[in-house]
Amino acid sequence: MNVKQSEELYKEACEHIVGGVNSPSRSFQGVGGGAPIFMERGEGAYFYDVDGNRYIDYLGAYGPIITGHAHPHITEAIKRSAEDGTLYGTPTRFENQFSKMLKGAIPSLEKVRFVNSGTEAVMTTIRVARAYTGRNKIIKFAGCYHGHSDLVLVAAGSGPSTLGSPDSAGVTQNIAEEVITVPFNDPKAFETAINKWGDQIAAVLVEPIVGNFGIVEPAPGFLERVHSLTHEAGALIIYDEVITAFRFTYGGAQNLLNLTPDMTAMGKIIGGGLPIGAYGGKTKIMESVAPLGPAYSAGTMSGNPASMRAGIACLEVLKEEGTYERLDFLGNKLEEGLVELIQKYNIPATVNRLKGALTLYFTTQPVTNYEEAESSDGQLFASFFKKMLHQGINLAPSKYEAWFITTAHVEKDIDETLIAAEHAFRELAEE
Ligand code: PMP
Repeated sequence: MNVKQSEELYKEACEHIVGGVNSPSRSFQGVGGGAPIFMERGEGAYFYDVDGNRYIDYLGAYGPIITGHAHPHITEAIKRSAEDGTLYGTPTRFENQFSKMLKGAIPSLEKVRFVNSGTEAVMTTIRVARAYTGRNKIIKFAGCYHGHSDLVLVAAGSGPSTLGSPDSAGVTQNIAEEVITVPFNDPKAFETAINKWGDQIAAVLVEPIVGNFGIVEPAPGFLERVHSLTHEAGALIIYDEVITAFRFTYGGAQNLLNLTPDMTAMGKIIGGGLPIGAYGGKTKIMESVAPLGPAYSAGTMSGNPASMRAGIACLEVLKEEGTYERLDFLGNKLEEGLVELIQKYNIPATVNRLKGALTLYFTTQPVTNYEEAESSDGQLFASFFKKMLHQGINLAPSKYEAWFITTAHVEKDIDETLIAAEHAFRELAEE
């Protein structure tokens, strides 16, 4: 496959843009380096790069593109919005319409606020929880990514439940010490943390179904235990549904799990491919937000008409009957095919899947937490990733990410993907 133009553009990008990319996950650093592919155009399940190669896309822009690229209904909404003027700085009826749609789908969102990214949404829920409870600390789970605000760029120390240390230069030790990190799916470690710091905890922040060290579901009873211990300690539960909202069902992971958080942060899919974030929750908590309350949250671009109209259009598409059954059907076909090939070529790999999202880990043990995901073989993944890319299958360049199926994928795409995977596995088995 010729990717000369991508290589040239990457060289040029490195001269002007730090690291050549505007988000580090786009670089190929995690898969042995090299130039990332520069895409020219997306259409449905496919990408076309600057050298004219076609790819079946499973990146889905790290989640938002659940209806495929350039879905006509969403494109039309964006066009109409551009014609009406892109930004007003005043309220519009689209904000009302969209917030009503979100509330209709996720009943725990008694009141919502729109922002511009998942990072902002999570950051603000934490601020609101602190304002509401008058406490400072938060608990998060190891390996879960919650955006790039200071408080959530904190890593765990060693040990089952620990005060954090900065995961990025520029995050101060003082900030990191407000964050306690415990392993996902470990109720004992969570209980230990609550026993030790419970009366200082403002909120527990959790991806109810993890998307950030691959797709990992909560063990039966785990989140229920987290809920009860958190509330007994007088703290709030915040669900980070930036990946999961509208990914697995028309609503949040909370609908599937039948659990009700105090607050929810969202982003990605709800913007229909345009920048967005939103957070919401119980009225009495959300009334802590300015102009009603003392917790400040604002934004020039927040609730902009283009993102609102794209989001409304995206939800309209997702609401069509059979959407999630179809994503599940295709996900199942892909999972079954991969598992069959893993066995045929004796590849040390395992697949975690929920509906239309899956992760292929190069490890033979089940993956239920970050440690297990981390122990999967990054070199094997890197090699597999490149072999797939060269056959026109676009995956995320990281062993921790999910493959996302969209409503634009068809069975033929899954067949083509499995042919490429067989080729890649055969080569891996021979190497
Ligand atoms: N929370 C989760 C669960 C995410 O996956 C992400 C992004 N991958 C974020 C928050 C941050 O969202 P954004 O990149 O829109 O700031």
